[in-house]
Amino acid sequence: MQHRRSRALLALLLPVAGAALAEDVAPVRDHFAELGEIIRVTPRRGAPLLAALEAQAVRTPAEHARFLILSCDLSHRLGKHEEAVRLCEQALQLGRQVHDDSLVARALLSKAYAVFGLNESGQSHQLVWEAERLAAASPDIGLRILVLISSGESFAEEGNFPVALNKLQGAVTLARQSGDPLEVAIALKSLAYLYGQMREFDKGFEAIGEAERLAEQVNSPGRLAIFKTTEYILAANNGDIARGTKALLSALALERGIGADAMVSNTLVNLADAYLKQQDWRRALMYAQQSLDQAQKLNDDSLAATARVNVGQAYLGMGRLAEGKKQIEQGMDWYERSGNKPDQQGVLVEYGDALERAGDLAGALAAYHRERALSNELFETWRQKAMMELQEKYEADKRQRQIEMLRQENQVKSTELDNRRLQQRIWWLLALVFALASVIVGILYRKVRHANAQLEEKNQELKQQSARDPLTALYNRRHFQEFMRGHQAIERRGVGNDGIRSGDDMVSAMFLLDVDHFKNINDTHGHGAGDAVLREIADALREILRETDMIVRWGGEEFLAFLPAVPRDSLDEVARRLLAGIPERTIEYQGARLSVNVSIGFAPFPLVQVGSSISWERAINIVDMALYLAKGHGRNRAYGVRGMAGLDPAALDEVEQDIEKAWRTGLVDLSIVTAHAPELRMAS
Ligand code: GH3
Ligand code: MG
Ligand code: MG
Repeated sequence: MQHRRSRALLALLLPVAGAALAEDVAPVRDHFAELGEIIRVTPRRGAPLLAALEAQAVRTPAEHARFLILSCDLSHRLGKHEEAVRLCEQALQLGRQVHDDSLVARALLSKAYAVFGLNESGQSHQLVWEAERLAAASPDIGLRILVLISSGESFAEEGNFPVALNKLQGAVTLARQSGDPLEVAIALKSLAYLYGQMREFDKGFEAIGEAERLAEQVNSPGRLAIFKTTEYILAANNGDIARGTKALLSALALERGIGADAMVSNTLVNLADAYLKQQDWRRALMYAQQSLDQAQKLNDDSLAATARVNVGQAYLGMGRLAEGKKQIEQGMDWYERSGNKPDQQGVLVEYGDALERAGDLAGALAAYHRERALSNELFETWRQKAMMELQEKYEADKRQRQIEMLRQENQVKSTELDNRRLQQRIWWLLALVFALASVIVGILYRKVRHANAQLEEKNQELKQQSARDPLTALYNRRHFQEFMRGHQAIERRGVGNDGIRSGDDMVSAMFLLDVDHFKNINDTHGHGAGDAVLREIADALREILRETDMIVRWGGEEFLAFLPAVPRDSLDEVARRLLAGIPERTIEYQGARLSVNVSIGFAPFPLVQVGSSISWERAINIVDMALYLAKGHGRNRAYGVRGMAGLDPAALDEVEQDIEKAWRTGLVDLSIVTAHAPELRMAS
C-alpha cells in the first residue's frame, strides 16, 4: 500500500537545524523563506520556530501577512487543512490592504495547497491560476517560478498535459535564467513527474537525474530525498521495481540524516509497498512495522492505517492469515471512520488479492463483495452527485428560460400598455379638439343667430319706418300705394255694372281730409303746436274709425281714410262723425286751447265706368275734387260722390276737370255733409 501522495510544492533548500535558525533571525525575509523550508520538511519543528519569529520579526502588516502564510503552510503540513484555509484568508486580506500583489499571490498559492488537502482539487486549481495572473509581473522571480510550477501541476491534474508541459518547461527556463541551481532542480523534478504521467519515462529519468545532481552540488539532502522519491515513482510505474527500491533506500538515508520524520514515515510506507510488490514479505513486514511505529510516534492516524494494511498484507504473504486479517481490518476501520471510501476500496482490492494468494478463497470472496458494494456505493454517490449537478444545471437553465420568458412577456405587456396609453391620449386629444370646435361653432352660431335676430329687428323697424309716418305713426302714402295695388286686383273680381260695387250693400270707401286754415296754427302758435295738433287729429281718426280701416297721412295736413267694408248708405254718416269728432278734440298748448275743423271729400270705391273700372289714382283725384269743392263751399264740410251718370271716358275727364260743373250738369251726383246741419242733397 502506497501512502497518499502529499503535494510537494515548496522548495526544500537547506538541511538547516531549526535551533540554529531560531538564534539567527536577521534578515527577516531570509528567515521567512528558510522557515518555509523547515515547515515543508519537518513541520513539527517549525511550530516553535514560527512562534519565535512572530515575537521578533513581525512588525509591519506585510510581515504579519507573511507570518500568516507560514502559519497556513504549517497547519496544512500538520493536516489541519480548515485552519490553514482560515489563516491564508487572513493573509490574503492583509496583502490586499497593503496592495502587495506578490503577497496576495503567495497567500493564494498557500490557500490552494490547503484547499487541495480538503480534496477540492477544482477550487485549488482556480486559486493557483488566480495567483499566476497576479504574479505574472512580480519582481520576485522565485514566486514566478513557483506559480508556473503550481500552474503546470494543476493543468496536469486536470489532464491537460500539453499546457502543463508548456508551463513546467517555462518554469525550468525561468529558473535557469535566475541562475539559482536549486530553483532549476525543483522545476526539473515537477517536469520529471509530468513525463512519468505522460509515460515518457526516458525524459522523466533524464530530468530527475539532472535535478538530483544539482541537489548534490548545492548539498541539499532534503531536496535530494524528495527527488529520489520521484525517481522511485517513475521506476515503479515503469516496472523497474529494483531501481525504485534503490532510490527509496537512498531517500530514507537522507531523510533520517536530517531528521525529517514525516518524510521518513512516508518513505517507509513506500518501501513496504515496494517489497510487497516484490513479494519479499520479510522486508515488507519490517518496513511496514517501522512505518507503523513512526506513525504512532507522530500521531498520524492516516499513515498508521496505511502502515497497518501493509503489515497485514505482509502477514498474509507469510501465510499468517489471522494476524494479517486483524491488521488489515484495523487499518480499514480508520478508512471507514474517516469516510475515505476511495482508499478503502483500493485496500479491499489488495486485501482480496492477498487473501487469494494465501489460499483463503472465502475471505477473498468476502473482500471482493465488500469491494463491489463499496464500488457500487461510490458509483451511486458519484451518479447521484452527477444527477444532482445535472438537475441543478437543468433547473438553473429552466429558471433562466423562465426569467427570459417573463422578461419578454413584461416587455410585450409594457409595450401594449404604452400603446393603450398613446391611444387614450389620442382619443382625449380628439375629444378635446371636438369639444373646442363645437364650443367655437356654438359661439359662432349664437353670434350669427343674434346678428340675424338683430337684422330681423332692424328690418322690422325699417319696414315699420318705411310704412309709417314718423310724426303721427299713421301709414304713409307709399304704403297705401302698395296696399292699393294688391287691393285693386281683389276688387276687380267683384265688379257689377251699376258703376259701383255689385252684390250686397257693403262697399269700400275713401275719405280725404284737409285741415282748415292750418297755416294759422303754425303762424300763431308755432310749428310745434302744429305738430301736436296733427298728432291729435291722428288719434281722433283712430278713435272715430274702425281698426280695420286704413288711415294714411296723405300729405302735410291731409289724411286719407280707406274703409274696406261699410254699408253703402252709411258713407255720409261716417263723414258726419269725422266732421264732428275732430273739432271736439282740443289740445292745451302753452296756455292756449287749440282745435281745428276739417274739410272732406269722399267716394265709394271702386268708382266704375260701364265696362271698365277706374283706377284708384283717378278715384282719389275725383275725391280730391270733391274736397276742393268742400273748401270752396265754406270749409268744415264734406262732399261725397254718390253716383256718376253716362260714364264714358270723356265724361269722366269732365268730372276730373271741373266737378262743380259736372255736378250741375248732372254728370255726377254729390252728397253734402256739414258739421251741424243734416245732410243736404243738392240737385244739379
Ligand atoms: P285751407 O283752409 O285753405 O286749407 O288753409 P290752410 O292754411 O290749411 O292751407 P295751406 O295749404 O295754405 O296751408 C297748409 C299749411 O300746413 C302749410 C304748412 O306750413 C302747414 N303744414 C304742412 N305740413 C305740416 C306739418 O307737418 N306740421 C306743421 N306744423 N305744419 C304743416
Ligand atoms: Mg292743404
Ligand atoms: Mg288746409
